[in-house]
This record gives sequence, structure tokens and C-alpha cells, in this order.
Amino acid sequence: MADKKTIPYKIYLEESEMPTQWYNVRADMKNKPAPLLNPQTLKPMTAEELSQVFCEELVKQELDDTTPYFDIPEEILDFYKMYRPSPLVRAYCLEKELDTPAKIYYKFEGNNTSGSHKLNSAIAQAYYAKNQGLKGVTTETGAGQWGTALSMACAYLGLDCNVYMVKCSYEQKPFRREVMRTYGAKVTPSPSDTTKVGREILAKYPGTSGSLGCAISEAVEAATSKDGYRYVLGSVLTQVLLHQSIIGLETKAALDKYHITPDIIIGCAGGGSNLGGLISPFMGEKLRGEKDYRFIAVEPASCPSLTRGKFAYDYCDTGMVCPLAKMYTLGSGFIPSANHAGGLRYHGMSSVLSQLYDDGLMEAIAVEQTSVFEAATKFARIEGILPAPESSHAIKAAIDQALLCKETGEEKTIVFGLTGTGYFDMVAYGKYNDGAMSDYIPTDEDLAKGFAGLPHVE
Ligand SMILES: *Cc1c(COP(=O)(O)O)cnc(C)c1O
Repeated sequence: MADKKTIPYKIYLEESEMPTQWYNVRADMKNKPAPLLNPQTLKPMTAEELSQVFCEELVKQELDDTTPYFDIPEEILDFYKMYRPSPLVRAYCLEKELDTPAKIYYKFEGNNTSGSHKLNSAIAQAYYAKNQGLKGVTTETGAGQWGTALSMACAYLGLDCNVYMVKCSYEQKPFRREVMRTYGAKVTPSPSDTTKVGREILAKYPGTSGSLGCAISEAVEAATSKDGYRYVLGSVLTQVLLHQSIIGLETKAALDKYHITPDIIIGCAGGGSNLGGLISPFMGEKLRGEKDYRFIAVEPASCPSLTRGKFAYDYCDTGMVCPLAKMYTLGSGFIPSANHAGGLRYHGMSSVLSQLYDDGLMEAIAVEQTSVFEAATKFARIEGILPAPESSHAIKAAIDQALLCKETGEEKTIVFGLTGTGYFDMVAYGKYNDGAMSDYIPTDEDLAKGFAGLPHVE
């Protein structure tokens, strides 16, 4: 293996080689993602309207689909340096185990206390809030990864952080909750009696264990009803993809250092932020006609937004308070069956990725939960890292592609995003170890119910 001598197990970047700008893939898209619409007037959201909910600088980033590069502020670069660059690992052991001619690399984003890539955008969003002179931010968290990342970022910058955590997670995931509180966040189980919308939901459904849609509505109300607060969101929005482009830019810099050109780039897709960030600079080359790559989005078969959803305007939240986005969606009322990849249970998908997929520039596949945990377990035993269930969707697809190469004898180079660690997901691993994991795939009738709730927008 000549490779072994020239390509290290881990490719790191020197501090001086780290990206200092984020890349905005929309600048190179011929078909731009459709604008966000005001849910009342159905007109494109103006900067002024968005600024009532979001920080001003983030609104500018959200609406800008022409500027290709944004300078990363010095303070954010300094924070990045505490846990970045993240390693790009050559999966030599996995290649050997699979006996494949394929070369497999993964970009590991789990090497920070929050345990996932979400910190990359959390620090950016907290920074712009602080810079605007705000007192704090509000958000929701389902599984808890985003809330954890945001509380770390807010603690670093001395910002107040209010997290509405879906009640059932609040009760079932006490460790995530306590990490957030340790970083100084105020964590409120949602629905709560601290907001009007929360009180209404509690009156209507006493004893409810909450939902992400409801927690979003509470967090937005908490931000807009108090001076000095804004709402922040950890995925789906184009500003989040912009911040997450740091993943792809580092990956590209590391590969370029060793003159490696990937053939296939794979990532799991929930709201699309890690995948969008990973593929952005490569997609830019493809859009400009400089290079060609295959991009594969991997989603759970229980929540198949890209592979079985509709490309339409839809509400971003169940409470229908947020702007409408044009995206691949299962309908904001779609409730996926219990699934252990909490970060992949969103009904919609980033409008940027949706447009790229609709234009045939990216592929998508859906995989079943049991096969995902099988891949996760194999990966943990061979490569040493205990992966998050979300990330394991990408592992599953990468292994399948490598096995295809074994059949055809092709020496393809595969890169996938390993978004996080699975330490807080041991209940899910326990289910798998006990053989008690189920694979519910929604029927067409189930999906029809979600589609029936799509708003009528021309
Ligand atoms: C949130 C999360 C995801 C999915 O979110 P995207 O916005 O689609 O990237 C994937 N992996 C991990 C570990 C997460 O925490």
C-alpha cells in the first residue's frame, strides 16, 4: 500500500492553513433558492420583517445570494481555533475490513464538548447577537444537540441563553439538559406556562409531552416579546449552511494538500446544514463547471423529505409562526414515527439543498434504522469512534458505496461527514443491542396526510 506512506491517518491543517472566510454556494447557483415568504401576506420576507425575529447581520447573510465569500470575524476564528480544524481521517482500518479498493475519508465534527458540528454555527449566531448589543437569544431544542452547542457559545460570549426543550426530551435526556445548565443556559420544558402560546397548548392538550413545532413557537414568542432578545435556529436556514461551509472548506484544503480528488461526497441530511456545509465548496466547483462530483444525501426511511417529499412552499414549524420556505417537505404536520436519530426528524429540508436536488445536482437515498445501527456498531468497533445515530446514516451509505467498488474493482475516493458522537444516545444503542429496534416506514397514506396540510402558494 503505497498510499499508507504518503497519506497520514489524520490530515490536519496548520492554524495558518485554516479558512478565514465562509463560502456562500448560492452565489454560484443559476437557479437560486426561492425566497422565504411572509406567512400572512405570502410576499417575500423583507430584511425589516426578518430583523424583528433574527439578528440584523444574520438577516443580511440569509438574504444574500450573490456574495460568494464572507470574512469570518476574528473573534469567531479564535473560538474555532479551540476545537478546529477538525480532523479528516483516512479510514484505513475500515477499508481493510471491507476489503475494498475504495479510499474512504471522514471529516469528524464530534471533537468538542457539544459533540457535533452545530457549534460551528452556534458561535457565529451568538457572536452577531452580542455584536448587535443584545442581552440574549432564545431557541428550541429537540434531541438537545443544538441547545448544548448554543449554550456553550453563549457562555463564551457572556450572553443570556434561553432554551425551550421539548418536554419528553427534557425528561428523558437529563444529561443534555444538565450540560446546558452547566454552561449557564435557562432550560424550560416545552410546552410551558411562560409563554402565551405555551399556555394555550397546555389548556388544549393537558399533559402533552410537547413537540419541536411547539417549542419553536414558544422560543419565537419569548424572543419577540422581550427587549434585547432574538431567536436563533440551528439548521435549515441558509445562514446556517454558510457557517457550516467551514466543514467543506477545511475538508477541501486538507484533500488539496495531498492532491486528493474525491469522487463521492456523502452526508446525513436532517435540515441540511452539515451536508450543505460539507459539499458547498465542491458543489461550487461543479456549478462553475470546473470539476464533477457525486453528492449523496442520506435520510432516514422514517422521515424521507427528499426521496418521498414534495417540492413546495411549506411552514417551517408546526405552529406556523415562521416564514414559509420552498423546500422538499413532508408537510409541517407530518410526525415521523419514533426514530433514534432525533436530528434527522425534521419534516422539511434546506431550500438550498432542495433546489440543488431538484436541479439534479445531488442525489438522495433513504436508509432504515436497523441497518444504520448495524453500520454504526461496525464503525465503532473498527474505527474506534462511537458515532451519533444521525452521522451513522452517512456511514451506512459510505460502506455501501465502498462495497460496490469492491464488486466493480473501482478505486473510488469516498468522503463522508461524521457529524458527531453518540455518547448521549445510549438508550438507542441499548434498543439495538436488545434487538428491540423497529423500522417504521410511512405508507403513502401516512404521507398524504402531511401533504394535505401544505399551504396553497402559487
Ligand atoms: C443536528 C444533527 C444532524 C442533522 O442536522 P443537519 O442540519 O441536517 O446537519 C446530524 N448529525 C448530528 C450529530 C446532529 O446533531
